Amino acid sequence: MTDCSSSEHPLRSSGEKRIAILSTGGTIEMQPGPGGLDIIDGQDPLSLEGDAVPEGTRIEHVKFCSLPSPAITPDLMASLCLRLRDMAEEGRYDGIVVTHGTDTLEESAFLADAYLRTEIPVVFTAAMRSPSELGVDGPRNVRGAILAASNNEIHKLGVTVVLNDEIHAAGRVTKTYTSNVSSFASPGYGPLGFVDQDRVLLQRIPLWRVQLPPGELAMDPGVGLVRIAAGLGAREISHCVRCGDRAVVVEALGRGNVPPEVSEAVEEAVFRRVMVFVTSRCYVGRVLGVYDYKGGGADLERRGAFMAGDMQGHKLRLLLMAAIGMGMEERHIHSMLSRL
Ligand code: ASP
Repeated sequence: MTDCSSSEHPLRSSGEKRIAILSTGGTIEMQPGPGGLDIIDGQDPLSLEGDAVPEGTRIEHVKFCSLPSPAITPDLMASLCLRLRDMAEEGRYDGIVVTHGTDTLEESAFLADAYLRTEIPVVFTAAMRSPSELGVDGPRNVRGAILAASNNEIHKLGVTVVLNDEIHAAGRVTKTYTSNVSSFASPGYGPLGFVDQDRVLLQRIPLWRVQLPPGELAMDPGVGLVRIAAGLGAREISHCVRCGDRAVVVEALGRGNVPPEVSEAVEEAVFRRVMVFVTSRCYVGRVLGVYDYKGGGADLERRGAFMAGDMQGHKLRLLLMAAIGMGMEERHIHSMLSRL
């Protein structure tokens, strides 16, 4: 699954940047089948020639896997991170572009950002439209990502995501629109920069980055994620506890509040030694214990829940899977999250 073909493209000019394209699947590799888009075995529609490859770059295509991104598991994301670390350490490349399905791209990119400490750029990209569709965006996105991965400064921003000429921080970016090419955005924060023709224009540095400790990346599967809605959440948290989860992320309402009966499920989970981390289903902003009614954030804190700052629930879940999998203690996890 994780080791496939490698084909070198001819030199385009002397003194080039050597950029690896690590492909994982997604719409950018899909073609129309009888019932809709799919990855067709044996075919590789990833466009890595012609206009997609800027002057002065030498491209090497390394296939990691070829999957729709809903099929990319946390374990596979961890393998991808380890592969990126190894490729960066090899010293053969000036930068790495990862092509990925858009559905879970932000999770893979975020985990890579939290784990990697590479000195070369790692840039994720994708396509909202398949190569067969009118107005296909894949080649342009790949080109933008190659330009970004050739930039000498961009690695200082951590792992980045380039689509639709925008450069985003992996920690902030999210897929906001099911179908539009402008889908990837960083609500409340905006892009870090832009690709304009052949230029990469960096404008902001993300100070917000969580970093896992150095070591082998391993994912603990026992982390649940419960999204709260009116009258919903207690049964779901209890289910996670019964399943033996080590931690549960509660994607709470607003500032970090839940319906009254959910607060009892939180207390019960903590009593049973399940760590409870509260985040918000709002797009932007920190959770904080400012409300003291039953189910309010202050009440949840008193019952043993940890307020996890300004972080999307699905990213926090992955981070906790990695932190617990790497053997981090609860107090160290708290201090890792305390700056958020
Ligand atoms: N469903 C696709 C995937 O994530 C969407 C895409 O790549 O744009 O694999």
